[in-house]
Amino acid sequence: MSQVSERLASLSPSETLAMSQKSNELKAQGIDVINLSVGEPDFLTPTFIKDAAKKAIEENNSFYSPVTGYLSLRKAIVDKLKRENQLEYKPEQIVCSNGAKQSVCNVILSIIGAGDEVIVPAPYWVSYVEMVKLADGVNVVVPSGIEQDFKITPDQLEAAITPRTKALILCSPSNPSGSVYSKEELKGLAGVLAKYPDITIISDEIYEHINYVGKHESIAQFETVRDRVVIVNGVSKAYAMTGWRLGWIAAPQWIASACNKLQGQYTSGPSSIAQKAAEAAYTGPQDCVKTMREAFERRRNLMVALGKEIPGFKVSKPQGAFYLFPDCSYYTGKSFRGKKIENSADLAIYLLEEGHVATVGGMAFGAPDCIRFSYATSDEQLAEAMKRVKEALAKLI
Ligand code: PMP
Ligand code: GLU
Repeated sequence: MSQVSERLASLSPSETLAMSQKSNELKAQGIDVINLSVGEPDFLTPTFIKDAAKKAIEENNSFYSPVTGYLSLRKAIVDKLKRENQLEYKPEQIVCSNGAKQSVCNVILSIIGAGDEVIVPAPYWVSYVEMVKLADGVNVVVPSGIEQDFKITPDQLEAAITPRTKALILCSPSNPSGSVYSKEELKGLAGVLAKYPDITIISDEIYEHINYVGKHESIAQFETVRDRVVIVNGVSKAYAMTGWRLGWIAAPQWIASACNKLQGQYTSGPSSIAQKAAEAAYTGPQDCVKTMREAFERRRNLMVALGKEIPGFKVSKPQGAFYLFPDCSYYTGKSFRGKKIENSADLAIYLLEEGHVATVGGMAFGAPDCIRFSYATSDEQLAEAMKRVKEALAKLI
């Protein structure tokens, strides 16, 4: 008999991780699966970062760090925010955690209580809504389809606000759509939020550097909302360090202090070695970031071109991150050998079983018409994957 709590029972497992797991299981059976499910760079962590980690071990950085991270790392993050984002923070406003995932969860658990509403624009990253559930909060999902480039408008935001609204979660560049809010668009949202001083804005900027529009824009740049923005970022994507588990927030002092307290009872500071590696990443040469971004941009172009060749796909041109998020609703209701595709989750399973390509159905992201392809893999693999997808879809009637 399962005795998990109600809280756990109501939590959905991470669909991104689940599809990746399924793909690995098929691979272990000797099936040649191309995994475009999980979103993680295929690049290796740059050598100078690995060297810093080796040095950290040799120098016996083996003790607990402060809960919020070493001061030297937090200072390096403050410098990064000033240098790249023209934003001023104090080291006390930075909290380092075991990945940006923990950072987002810390903030939600720190500010959301029973019945508090959180506005979550859809498509959204899978974990946001589950984290809000963990905090006993209420998700207010605001949909945006491909026709509006998966971005919400100021009017939509305003219509979703109620006296119970506690927070908004923005993600730009976006996982899963790859859409990027322009400065003007962010200004429009900030204009609405300026009227509601009690709403905290959680701005997930983990894909900051995987951006094909030239310059990253943060909603924190607008003075009217600045003191209510929590920037979430980390080294996973920009420096190909997903497994190192190092994310951070730059937050109003009261939220940073709350996360410090929470984390102090829960996980303590993140790995001391990962922190030293992250410090090297922020203070070292940045050309690795540019090289990886260029590779992602080339792959983006390839994926958009290949996606457009697939009958029935509606494809947007993502301006950041490393996901293609076509609308595949054309295939809903079609069948293969008597088995009907009822939704995008079925379609993802079909593509895995019939095409041996792992993707993630859009349902998990609050966008049931779409399917997510992570293109963080080689051009050859991408070309082969999209060929398989096209062939598999052609069998549906
Ligand atoms: N936010 C978004 C939008 C992401 O895609 C991810 C990657 N899973 C994270 C946060 C968490 O990143 P991390 O690996 O640093 O926990
Ligand atoms: N960001 C990745 C994704 O969305 C990592 C998986 C996860 O942490 O959920 O696929």
